Amino acid sequence: MTVLAVADHRRGSLRDVSYELVTAGRQLADSTGGDLHVAVISGNVEEFGEKLNLDGVDTVHTVANGEEFNHDVYAGAVEALYAELDPTVLLMPNSVNGLDYAPAVANALDLPLVSDAVDFDYDDGLTATREMYESKVETTVDVDADQVAVTIRGGEWPASTKAGDAEISAFDFEPEGELGSRVLGFEEVVGGDVDITDADVLVSVGRGIEEEENLELVEELADALGATLSSSRPIVDAGWLPPNRQVGQSGKVVTPDVYLAVGISGAVQHVAGMKGADTIIAINTDPNAPIFDIADYGIVGDLFEVVPELIEQFN
Ligand SMILES: Cc1cc2nc3c(=O)[nH]c(=O)nc-3n(C[C@H](O)[C@H](O)[C@H](O)COP(=O)(O)OP(=O)(O)OC[C@H]3O[C@@H](n4cnc5c(N)ncnc54)[C@H](O)[C@@H]3O)c2cc1C
Repeated sequence: MTVLAVADHRRGSLRDVSYELVTAGRQLADSTGGDLHVAVISGNVEEFGEKLNLDGVDTVHTVANGEEFNHDVYAGAVEALYAELDPTVLLMPNSVNGLDYAPAVANALDLPLVSDAVDFDYDDGLTATREMYESKVETTVDVDADQVAVTIRGGEWPASTKAGDAEISAFDFEPEGELGSRVLGFEEVVGGDVDITDADVLVSVGRGIEEEENLELVEELADALGATLSSSRPIVDAGWLPPNRQVGQSGKVVTPDVYLAVGISGAVQHVAGMKGADTIIAINTDPNAPIFDIADYGIVGDLFEVVPELIEQFN
């Protein structure tokens, strides 16, 4: 089997999901002893190509065409690579970019599309796992087709990091006719100075904090730990922190070394965004809070007593 995975980048950097796509692609290719091809389209393709030269990748195809994501370029380049490689599985990210071009590509190539896969298996055909009903239900999709397109959810596969010895091959592609759209610039949302997906240590605050003015206490803890502050959704909905701080299904998927959940219950929609953290620590008054089911360390206690004590200890 041949697997073709399409990397993702934005504003000059490869997105984490690109490295996760390599792991996912290798997993599939291994199940039939096949090849893994990775494509990177636009941007600094020389640098990206080197970064994607990872263990288990057979060929990296670089498509130099513009700087940023463009629908026509991506859709056309992926279709052209597909025609050349004839892959059994075409893997794309379930990111803003991926969700833009993947359905168009699947439609143009007449492929079934499984979106937002969180796991899969290959044995005479693809079986993918998807989450439904706000992650309350897991469904298994058996694909009855010889070839399939899949978008994968970020944060579900470990990132591939080990250097490899792939062939790096430039692929010439020019879209036909005029581009239907192009990037004119970027505008950050308010508070967009912090990218919580980059943080090694996150102190995350939930509704247990009760009042906006109490946030100061958790900010102090984050400062003492050299951590970044994030939150559950009710804190953002209340307007106490900007949307770019929200962790979860409708927020950001984070994979820090340490995630300290303060007064967060651990609802499935929250857990969807932070379960990939290496070490999860929870502070909660309720010993039955679901967050303790996934926490490595837990403190059953009142945050208004525990947090000041932690600040003192860390300072
Ligand atoms: C479509 C959809 C998408 C969603 N997306 C997201 C998302 O992206 N991110 C997200 O977070 N949520 C999301 N939600 C909301 C989610 O279902 C939960 O409502 C939310 O995560 C709960 O946030 P919380 O844990 O802060 O609050 P709560 O569930 O109210 O939990 C507060 C916790 O604090 C504890 N507590 C109270 N007082 C103290 C104290 N003094 N000391 C210590 N602990 C205390 C309580 O025991 C409780 O466990 C989504 C919901 C829907 C329907």
